[in-house]
Amino acid sequence: MTRLVLASSNRGKLAELGDLLAPAGYELVAQSDLHVGDADETGSTFIENAIIKTRHAAHATGLPALADDSGLVVDALGGEPGLRSARFAGRHGDDAANNALLIERLRDVPDAQRGAHFYCVLVLLRSPSDPQPLIAEGVWRGRILHAPRGGNGFGYDPLFQPDGHACSSAELEPAHKNAISHRGQALAMLRERLSGAHKGSGR
Ligand code: IMP
Repeated sequence: MTRLVLASSNRGKLAELGDLLAPAGYELVAQSDLHVGDADETGSTFIENAIIKTRHAAHATGLPALADDSGLVVDALGGEPGLRSARFAGRHGDDAANNALLIERLRDVPDAQRGAHFYCVLVLLRSPSDPQPLIAEGVWRGRILHAPRGGNGFGYDPLFQPDGHACSSAELEPAHKNAISHRGQALAMLRERLSGAHKGSGR
């Protein structure tokens, strides 16, 4: 097994990604377990930040590395909250305040203009100097509701109604959400890319 550093200290992500990567011969280790701190996310796109985080973890450890970045992109707000999704209202991870601000910012926006999507990107560097990272992404389209619904999930799930569903993503069963979400799609693409690489395409 090849050790692969995950540029996150989120234990949920470690478990989920670890299961996915084991068949490809990778054993996932959290960067915090190797005493690596967080990188400064100075990029202006999700993909730049994912690459910055991955490269930081790979350089600090000399190992292959994996990072993800994700967020909510709202059409009527020109793409906000975007990179600031976790701290839209100021404090990192304050989901209630972020959701309240989103409702407020969209108060006068009619239903037809409330389109949005969740985005997720995963970046894998096979070595610190890998010039060709393996990149996988997922997009989950929907619209922003006027009031929160449901108690599952996290973040903006209570305000996000996925296309083709009559409920919010916080009303979906977690396994169902994980199978169809932006993160689920990015994971599926990563799995496909890895198996392609193992069949000899190299990337
Ligand atoms: P991170 O990439 O896991 O740090 O997520 C960034 C932020 O985007 C989170 O703090 C949430 O506010 C938002 N976000 C990302 N994915 C989801 C999701 O599946 N549901 C709800 N909010 C999400």
